[in-house]
Parts: sequence; C-alpha cells; structure tokens
Amino acid sequence: MKNNDQMDKIVSLCKRRGFVYPGSEIYGGLANSYEYGPVGVELKKNIIDAWWQYFVRGRPDMVGLDSSIILHPKTWEASGHVAGLTDAMVECKNCHTRTRADHLIEGVLPDMKVEGKSEADLDSIIQEHKIKCPTCGKFDWTPVRKFNLLFETHIGIVPEAQSLVYLRGETAQGIFLAFKNILDSTRVRLPFGVGQTGKSFRNEITKGNFIFRTLEFEQAEIEYFFDPETTNWEELFESWKKDMWKFVTEQLGVKPEHLRWRAHDDAERSFYSKRTEDMEYNFPFGFKELWGLAYRTDYDLTQHMKFSGVDLNYTDPYTNKKFIPHVIEPAVGINRLMAMVMLDAYREEDDRVYLALPPKLAPYKVAVFPLLGNKPLLTEKAKEIYNELKKYFTVAWDDRGNVGKRYYSQDEIGTPFCITVDFDTIEKDGCVTVRDRDTKEQPRIKIEELKSYLNQKII
Ligand code: ATP
Repeated sequence: MKNNDQMDKIVSLCKRRGFVYPGSEIYGGLANSYEYGPVGVELKKNIIDAWWQYFVRGRPDMVGLDSSIILHPKTWEASGHVAGLTDAMVECKNCHTRTRADHLIEGVLPDMKVEGKSEADLDSIIQEHKIKCPTCGKFDWTPVRKFNLLFETHIGIVPEAQSLVYLRGETAQGIFLAFKNILDSTRVRLPFGVGQTGKSFRNEITKGNFIFRTLEFEQAEIEYFFDPETTNWEELFESWKKDMWKFVTEQLGVKPEHLRWRAHDDAERSFYSKRTEDMEYNFPFGFKELWGLAYRTDYDLTQHMKFSGVDLNYTDPYTNKKFIPHVIEPAVGINRLMAMVMLDAYREEDDRVYLALPPKLAPYKVAVFPLLGNKPLLTEKAKEIYNELKKYFTVAWDDRGNVGKRYYSQDEIGTPFCITVDFDTIEKDGCVTVRDRDTKEQPRIKIEELKSYLNQKII
C-alpha cells in the first residue's frame, strides 16, 4: 500500500466509524483541530489508562499529579517558553499562506537537516533552492521570522498586561511547581518520578498530518528526579529508553521494526540538556518524533527557585545533604500514540478491513448480536447477555442488517470478539458463538462461561 493511501484510509475510517472527526466541521472546519468520536474517545482513554498503569500505578517509585492548565504566567518566563517556545515562520506575499520554514524545506528537500538551524540559515536554504509556495506556486516569501507557540488569554474581563496568562504549552512545568508540595505531603524519596496527563496547547501553523500535530493535544509527561552524585544518569537514561520501548511494543502492540531512536546533536539540543533522544515511528510521512526523552539537569527547578524566591532544594533524609535534584523527562503526546496505534493495527484481508488492536486498547471488548433482529426470543436473550457483560466490559450492541455486515463494522473499529445468539442457544445448548476478530474462528461457549472466557483473552 502506498503511504499516502494508508493515511487517507485511516482518516476516512476514523470519520466513517466515529474515531476522529474534523474540528468544528459545521462551521467549515478549524485547521489543526479534531474531535474524538464515540469510539475514538474510548481508544484514547484506554491508551491514557495503559500509560498511567504502566508508568504511575505499576511502579513503586512514581506518583501522579493533575495540575492546572492555566499556571502563574511567571512559570513560562522561568521555563524559557516565553522566549524560546518558538518556530521559524515564512509568509507567502502573494497568497498569505503562513508556514513553518523547516516544514517548507523538509517538504521539498527531505534529506536536508534543518533541526537547530538559525532563521538566517533557513532563509538562505529557501532562497538557494528557490522553494515555491505549496499553495499558490509563487516564489515570493517574507524573511523567516520567529513566532511564539504559547496561546495567550486574560484573566478577568479587561484585557490588560497584568491579566495576561498562557494556556500551558506542556504539562511538565506543573510538575516543577508542585515539587515542594509533593515532597512535603508524601513520603517520596529520591529517586522518584511524578507523572501527569492532560491537555496542552500550541499555536501550530503547519497543516496536515491529521492528529499528529494539533492546536490542543493530550500529553503524558514524567519528571524523574534523582541525585546525580548517587545515580548514574547514563544508566538511568538507558533504563527509561528500555521502558518506553517496552511500553510501545508490548502494551500498545506496535512492531519494533517501525520504531527507532534518534539522538539530538548539539545544535538541536537545548543548552541545559546533556542528552536528548527521540523515539520515532515510521508514519506514512516518514520517521517522526513520537516520544522525547531528555536529561534536563537541574535547569527547571533552579529557574523556578530563582523566579519564585522559594527554596526548592531537597534534603537527603540520611545525610542531610541539601541540593537541587536533576531530572530525566519522558514526554509524549497521546494523540500521536493513538495515530501510531491505528496505523500499526490497520489490516486489509480479502474483502475485509480490520484493526488488530490489542484487546486492552479496543474501544469495545465485545459486541453482542441476536442472529435475527426481528425475533423477540433471540433479542431478549441477547439483551440479557449484553446487560450482564456490560457490568464488566465495554460492550457494543447491534441488531441491524445481517451478521456479516455487523462483523464488518465491528472489525473496522477493532472489536476483538462478537457474540451471536441463535436458535440453538435457546432450544439446544445454552451456548453462543464467539467470533474472534483476528482468526475468524467461532467456538461455541456456554453463556455462564462467557465472562471468564473473555477475561482470559482480554489482557
Ligand atoms: P515537534 O518537533 O514534533 O513539534 P516537539 O519536539 O516540539 O515536537 P516536545 O516539546 O518534545 O515536542 O513535546 C513532547 C511530545 O508532545 C512530543 O514528542 C509529541 O509526542 C507531543 N506533541 C508536541 N507537540 C504536539 C502537537 N502540536 N500535537 C500533538 N502532539 C504534540
């Protein structure tokens, strides 16, 4: 399958079956925004839950947090986002299309390395290669200039300078703001991490690539605090790399051959970071960042201590040594994980399309059908099974059309099991057929054994 076809097929399946809709569609749409439909919200939630279980609840050295979207505006001065969360942009003087200079260049010169280049360098590449506007085809650009990605808003009814606040550009800063409270209110000891999921906002101007890059997105971030004198940061970095890889391949079921690590070089890495690597997934538009891992030293806590005047030192309970912990930060966008999971699970086989999602992630674990929708005897029994299973699983109900069509639609949303109640269920054996999405096998299972049968399969 051609790569563009693959993306088009996923985008159309998402709309058709209720995973993801274009944002604000009835008003003609809003670029880089999407809505997650009835099955999309379940898949997204299951990915968040899998992340939370694996990295927060499942580990003895982690705690969770849910901080605010709107933080004190000094937060973003201290973190460097007001000055530094910028992209380089050019505008076409003819049709006024605005685009990120690096994306413009990458679109035409895929092998050109643009990460970390200055505005002047980007300008000369555009000029040298006479890169035309992708919208109108003219070569008439403004000089490259920086713009900030933070969304501004105001507290109160009068927009004055004093009321300026930002929608958070990442969830991570909230963790540093809560660091002291977490130390004071819990029994955590170094090394330990704090995990958080929630919406972040960035004023992205490059269009396309579906939910890969959006104005608002769900982040899952960890700050892992440690003492650099007693913990070897290189070993810690490697162990995080292993855990992230395991999560993506084992929990999200993604094929390892579609993933790779890419280390940032000195030009690309932030000045305070000692090492940054991205886990990249082979999206239909090439290998792109999925998940960043950065050793940020003690930069953030030191900055917040300076800007707030509050002591953010950690005191070692055994030695009384006072110091600012260092951090390693794994930061991922759940929406990117979701795009990857769907692309990796997409299968075409003869005349059917199915999503081979790990059962744990599937929006519905099981669907229940009466063989015929107009036979009360069958629908009553099927409803009884549906209502019972609904206490334990997410269950879909379908009594329209024929069973073949129902399988077809459940396959497309990745439902791993479909139960059909037929006349034998009532008249003969008290069993139902349980059709497996991947093998298409249909063993007959006793109604009373359904719950344990499904429990064994849905891990
Ligand atoms: P990119 O280079 O793709 O813009 P980034 O390096 O700016 O990403 P980070 O600041 O490291 O991204 O953010 C951490 C993670 O958050 C990314 O790895 C990505 O998964 C996710 N992310 C960042 N920006 C967006 C966005 N606009 N839409 C969806 N996910 C995003």
